[in-house]
Amino acid sequence: MRPTDLDPAFISHAPGYWSEEATENWHDHRWQLRNRVDSLADLDARLNLTDEERAGVLLAGTKLAMAITPHFFNLIDRDDPNCPIRRQIIPRIDEGWTAPEEMADPCGEDSHMPVPGLVHRYPDRVLFLVTDRCASYCRYCTRSRVVSGVGEQHLETQWEPAFKYLEQHTEVRDVLLSGGDPLLFSDDRLDKILTRLRSIPHIQFVRIGSRIPIFLPQRITPELCAMLKKHHPLFISVHTNHPRELTTEVRDALGRLADAGIPLGNQSVLLRGVNDSVEVQKALVHKLLMCRVRPYYLYQCDLITGSSHLRTSVAEGVSIIEGLRGHTTGYAIPQFVIDGPGGGGKIPINPNYVVDAAAGKVTLRNFEGNIFEYPDPTPISASALEELHQRALSRSV
Ligand SMILES: *Cc1c(COP(=O)(O)O)cnc(C)c1O
Ligand code: SF4
Repeated sequence: MRPTDLDPAFISHAPGYWSEEATENWHDHRWQLRNRVDSLADLDARLNLTDEERAGVLLAGTKLAMAITPHFFNLIDRDDPNCPIRRQIIPRIDEGWTAPEEMADPCGEDSHMPVPGLVHRYPDRVLFLVTDRCASYCRYCTRSRVVSGVGEQHLETQWEPAFKYLEQHTEVRDVLLSGGDPLLFSDDRLDKILTRLRSIPHIQFVRIGSRIPIFLPQRITPELCAMLKKHHPLFISVHTNHPRELTTEVRDALGRLADAGIPLGNQSVLLRGVNDSVEVQKALVHKLLMCRVRPYYLYQCDLITGSSHLRTSVAEGVSIIEGLRGHTTGYAIPQFVIDGPGGGGKIPINPNYVVDAAAGKVTLRNFEGNIFEYPDPTPISASALEELHQRALSRSV
């Protein structure tokens, strides 16, 4: 951990390795995408790779592509192979191994698709997978079976049938655009998709899941914000795992989205060696609040193929929530969830604060371990009721 990781101050890591580059290029999101670090040679030119990383990069080409924006690459600690940023985006040899509990589609999405690209698991809302590309690729991605496009399986979103399905299914009031990362689309293309969704009267609520504000804050232009603003109520869920990811550029990009009236939530994945401690999680959620982002979910890492080196036990997640609840601002505390393996949806997991639930009362413990009893309501007795009636009568004359 760098000394600054727990410090609430925001810092910029630019231009870092790209100090020779013209400033206007650096601020151009297209330049950032064109100049992603995506080969062994690119990595070797900048980092001292370990043997485990080198093998991981060589094996990743047919599984989940490696790509890292220059902005995000600068957050890497070049001398520390256990750097929390490095663990998230540089493949390791462990990724090539499939543990017996692991799956290609851990949340059972493919079996809940009425139309390719549309996952309808819950009664009133759908997940709409609109692209398989991201600005950078997370090694633990739950959708790595299709994301990045190098694996055997491909995402084939059926646009017209998907819109038809949404038009016909009046029970769908909430559409979540995800992928891949929808904010990689041009303003124009996104505008058309949002306009089409907004033309469906029963769709009340639209949200976008995106890691672009973190990987590529340059993409959050005033023009993008002005376009998104036309489609309210629109929420955005970002994905941040470690406080170092919240740089000055990211804070400013999130501020532009918040200024456009977009409520912002954050989804984190609990990852071994990245954010599996109370102190890192606390620094992360405090910085998120300073960026006007409300922590929404903390996910237990899905049982995705090749993730065992990044996963923790469930108990570790519970103890992180214990370390937050009561100890800091309630707004800062995400809901810890497990996406039920095979397709159960998000299941909330909480520390147990109910010590006993006998007839007539519950026995509780608070965040400090003190015990409290909360009794059930006592019904009023006939004699007490009679006495109150008498008292009321005596006042009416
Ligand atoms: C996460 C998810 C949603 C949205 O769930 P919320 O709890 O409302 O945020 C919807 N559909 C699918 C398939 C999901 O995985
Ligand atoms: S940004 Fe999201 S969809 Fe893209 S690789 Fe990371 S976890 Fe997967």
